[in-house]
Amino acid sequence: MTVTFPLTFALTPSTGARGKADRDEILADPSFGKHFTDHMVTIDWSIEAGWHDARVTPYGPLMLDPASSVLHYGQEIFEGLKAYRHADNSIWTFRPEKNAERLQRSAHRLALPELSVEDFIESVRQMIAIDGDWVPSAPETSLYLRPFMIANESFLGVRAAQKVSFYVIASPAGAYFADGVAPVKIWLSTDYSRAGRGGTGAAKCGGNYAASLLPQMEAYENGCAQVLFLDGETGTNVDELGGMNVFFVHGTDTIVTPRLTGSILEGVTRDSIMQLARDRGMTVEERAVTLAEWRDGVASGAITEVFACGTAAVVTPIGQLKARDFTIGDADAPAGAVTLSLRQELTDIQYGRVPDRHGWLTRLD
Ligand SMILES: *Cc1c(COP(=O)(O)O)cnc(C)c1O
Repeated sequence: MTVTFPLTFALTPSTGARGKADRDEILADPSFGKHFTDHMVTIDWSIEAGWHDARVTPYGPLMLDPASSVLHYGQEIFEGLKAYRHADNSIWTFRPEKNAERLQRSAHRLALPELSVEDFIESVRQMIAIDGDWVPSAPETSLYLRPFMIANESFLGVRAAQKVSFYVIASPAGAYFADGVAPVKIWLSTDYSRAGRGGTGAAKCGGNYAASLLPQMEAYENGCAQVLFLDGETGTNVDELGGMNVFFVHGTDTIVTPRLTGSILEGVTRDSIMQLARDRGMTVEERAVTLAEWRDGVASGAITEVFACGTAAVVTPIGQLKARDFTIGDADAPAGAVTLSLRQELTDIQYGRVPDRHGWLTRLD
């Protein structure tokens, strides 16, 4: 058995950190992914030394050799989680061990080294220790944390890199639905898929997103907020959106979500929603869902609500699926009751407004 010691982080504080007035101005209207805090975490890895040189430094550009392998072969993975400020000013995050474990699975698939769960969570703690003032306090706001890992060896040969870096950056996030939770339209991609059998669909890697951007543009051109992908093999089963998992509500007591096939990303939000539904005595089904079932279910009234979920937007009601020659659902219908109450319960837990009965929260400050 290999014994690994937790990393210790060296701190170089920023001399150009923004003051309270500048920060408050940004936190008053942070939008999403636009502003970054004053510091970042870096941990390097090499085949000889393993993970080493963990540090917190001023936020700033990376210096990469033009031959750095990530720039050529896309060996990159990432995570997304949030820090939430509770009413008593304490700062918490939600199931970070799930993100850490998923980063390990993504690393395995992309032939990158695994970072321990402990070091992952400590890296997030380090960010909050120095930049905790960047966690906003207005309702439904948070500090979005973006851990990511890149192959960073200067070598054009095609093989797994022997030098890798892991980083954490953080960006304040405003309320996703500033004017109330409103259903969105989503676009059905029929020309493109995001993942195939044996591919990287279950890994959180930049390459999956790169493949989703063209269909995402098609979605915007058709007045839709997001794109829905079918399975790459048969083109009949619902997989997921570009960056969110999908649920169908049947009646008032059953939720159905596509089962994990290897081409679907296993969302932490997806898992949490299923648990909350089970806690309510609802039936939860993970199984194949065909496009035909969606269309017929909405037509017959068997499917009463459809929603998407992920860390960034939490739970988003889907009003309508739009395809080139048909639509399913009513874009103007209001958000459904099951969707809204699951969303409410999940955010109530995250913001500490109700007891954390599953031990999902980790205090960061
Ligand atoms: C990150 C991601 C999700 C949502 O995962 P959460 O852990 O709930 O944020 C869903 N689909 C894809 C493709 C993703 O990258």
